[in-house]
Amino acid sequence: METCEVAVLGAGLAGLCAARDLQEANVNVVLLEGRDRVGGRTWSKSFDAPGCIVDLGAEWVAPQHHTALVKELTRYGLGLELNEVASDATVQTLSRSETSAFTSLLSRLDKIAQTVNVRDPAWYRSLDSFDLPVTEYLEDLDLEPEDESLLLANGFALQGAGPAQYSLINLLHEFASFGSSEEAFYAAECRIEGGAQALSIALAEVLGARLRLNWRVDSVSQTDSGLMIQGPSAQLHAQQVVIALPVNVMRDLTLDLPLPQASLSVIARGHVGRAAKGWAGATMPNSVESTGWPNAVEVYCREGSRSRAVCTFAVAAPNHEQALKNSWAAVSQRHPEVTLTGEFLSHDWLSDPFAKGSWLSAAPGQSSGLHQLADAPPPCVFAGGDLSRGWYGWMEGAVTSGADAASRILAYRERGEKLPASA
Ligand SMILES: Cc1cc2nc3c(=O)[nH]c(=O)nc-3n(C[C@H](O)[C@H](O)[C@H](O)COP(=O)(O)OP(=O)(O)OC[C@H]3O[C@@H](n4cnc5c(N)ncnc54)[C@H](O)[C@@H]3O)c2cc1C
Repeated sequence: METCEVAVLGAGLAGLCAARDLQEANVNVVLLEGRDRVGGRTWSKSFDAPGCIVDLGAEWVAPQHHTALVKELTRYGLGLELNEVASDATVQTLSRSETSAFTSLLSRLDKIAQTVNVRDPAWYRSLDSFDLPVTEYLEDLDLEPEDESLLLANGFALQGAGPAQYSLINLLHEFASFGSSEEAFYAAECRIEGGAQALSIALAEVLGARLRLNWRVDSVSQTDSGLMIQGPSAQLHAQQVVIALPVNVMRDLTLDLPLPQASLSVIARGHVGRAAKGWAGATMPNSVESTGWPNAVEVYCREGSRSRAVCTFAVAAPNHEQALKNSWAAVSQRHPEVTLTGEFLSHDWLSDPFAKGSWLSAAPGQSSGLHQLADAPPPCVFAGGDLSRGWYGWMEGAVTSGADAASRILAYRERGEKLPASA
């Protein structure tokens, strides 16, 4: 049976960063990945119809906030391109006036967000009374339907979940992280040149043979001398483990580990991120950009060498395929000048056995369990954009949480800690 000092599970940005840091510290590390590619929820593909590379998963970077990610990009010679709305673009948003109830609702939420200390791992404790579904919070506010739609559309762009499912405190945390609701709502600032997956590919090159693709993990259990990782046809024994898998796949694994009840509940239910993202080849006189609710929540364009590609997001309800169908119908209605060429590209992240959800969106009551998972002490620690201590659901969170997991394992190894005798 193969053995190593540290096994990292999952070659998304979190696992790749953790494995790279451990390798740099001269640890004998092995990185196991179930798919035949790296990058996880960053996946960049050539969209032949318009002749450009598009992101099926993560895309947007806000460089002044996502500083750890920018540092990684710089390290591997990767650039960012500005998301410039074409000067001739037709831009439509749901209408909004400066004096509207919407503006006063946002300033009320911003005020609450200002009380959040995003550096405090237990930031959510002070927001107990707001840990409720967004729809429940809106019930008593008597907003105009347009104002409500505007909040729900912008909230979805950040949370990727239906407003009856995700907790208002996630939105407040986003406002606090960005500094204001305004900045959070307009976070689609830059994308990674060549696609978001480029960083994962660069990290994988550094790891070489330490990375094992097509190695699906089925179980992790503690032994007297470390941890046993079991796949369908192989086993690996490690002294310490970093589990950098999406939270929503964990319920399919046997985790024979001492985890707190709140974390076990989060694993059993999973987070509620349910976004469908799709690309379509299209022709149109000017590029378009718009916001709507509940279909085609976000619409934007990319220029390819041959034609344009339109991107749309929606809540994946009742399912991914239907949600995108509804969205394309909404795009055609909202932008009659757009003609779809019939070429589509998307990935169903909810049915993907290695993701089972889009980006992290926590339901009411889940924050504590997520944090307790992120705090699990060595020899088996957890990492990932779903568990970050700051930028949940963002590539920045995956990068920082991978680095954090590696440094906690290194500190543990330096202390020479042994497993409890009972393990
Ligand atoms: C549609 C979409 C749009 C997004 N948009 C943005 C955006 O604009 N900006 C942004 O910053 N973020 C965005 N995100 C979020 C971002 O992609 C994630 O937060 C981040 O990539 C998570 O990285 P990770 O390493 O934690 O997890 P992942 O990238 O999911 O990596 C986990 C890895 O574990 C592997 N794995 C799973 N199960 C097993 C198993 N049993 N055995 C072995 N390996 C396994 C997976 O294959 C995967 O490679 C988006 C996500 C989606 C889905």
